[in-house]
Amino acid sequence: MNSAHRDRVALYSLGGTIAMTPQPSGGVAPALSASELLGAIPGLAETGIQVDVHDFRRLPGASLTFHDLIELAHHIDRQISDGVDGVVVTQGTDTIEETAYLLDLLHTADAPIIVTGAMRSATAASADGPANLLAALRVAASPSARRLGCLVVFADEIHAARYVRKTHASSLTAFTSRPGPIGYVAEDEAHILLRPEPGPKPTIVDQDRLPRVAVVPAILSDDGHLLGTVAERVDGLVVAAFGVGHVPAAWVPTLAETAARIPVVLASRTGAGSVHTNTYGFPGSEKDLLARGLISAGALDPYKARILLSLLLAGNASRADIATAFTQA
Ligand code: ASP
Repeated sequence: MNSAHRDRVALYSLGGTIAMTPQPSGGVAPALSASELLGAIPGLAETGIQVDVHDFRRLPGASLTFHDLIELAHHIDRQISDGVDGVVVTQGTDTIEETAYLLDLLHTADAPIIVTGAMRSATAASADGPANLLAALRVAASPSARRLGCLVVFADEIHAARYVRKTHASSLTAFTSRPGPIGYVAEDEAHILLRPEPGPKPTIVDQDRLPRVAVVPAILSDDGHLLGTVAERVDGLVVAAFGVGHVPAAWVPTLAETAARIPVVLASRTGAGSVHTNTYGFPGSEKDLLARGLISAGALDPYKARILLSLLLAGNASRADIATAFTQA
């Protein structure tokens, strides 16, 4: 940093455990403002980062909506046009793997968006919020994070939005990625080890008419009755299939009929690895389902596949566009 330039970061607080304090009615709930979150960081002034605060929402992660996130993406665009070097979003960890991916899909500017949160509430012993927020601010201000879209910074690791998942309910290191974090924060600096290619960038046409997309998991001994009920009520469907893309044989007629009407995406519920294309040949195998018109999610997990399909449908994407976007993702 030279004396003429101070890195400028916009901080948006959306609530979550990082902002939660004990309530008279019992339990913790979102209460702290963005300024209060900053006030809990030792040594912030010494970083030289100027932080512009925005109290955007005060919600648990589970209650955030697509509308909240789309509005946030517009605010972020304006801040970036106004010259901020990066953006930090604090929110509930429960939905970070989805919100970060949604922001990543909508984000085209060079300045990075960094999402973080905390596993322990603000007044808990060894609350992790201040350290996570400080690391997120450092990454947001770092030139090395530019052109990486939306990242998740947690426990000093830097994750690409498209790979990150919350894989533990309560651990301080709840966030993991396959193939692994793309970088880390050490000695006050962001270190980027991998630079993934940018993914698809859908454009929403009408944000007042967002499609309804369901995720239906394949589960043992399921006869497909619930699948059929859901499939009649949605604009798009993601199947969270077994293994490399398998479902019970009883599902095949419903899936074939549904895929002829609406986009049906085939994802793996395993949490890592890709849907295969050409290995298994039984009814309900990946080969069978792809031949019946399902679209492979590749390595994208079912929850992220739902976000991508939702935004593509919100942009009136054709079936061919959808297939291309999933290949790119
Ligand atoms: N456990 C959550 C959190 O970290 C609760 C939420 O998502 O708001 O914030």
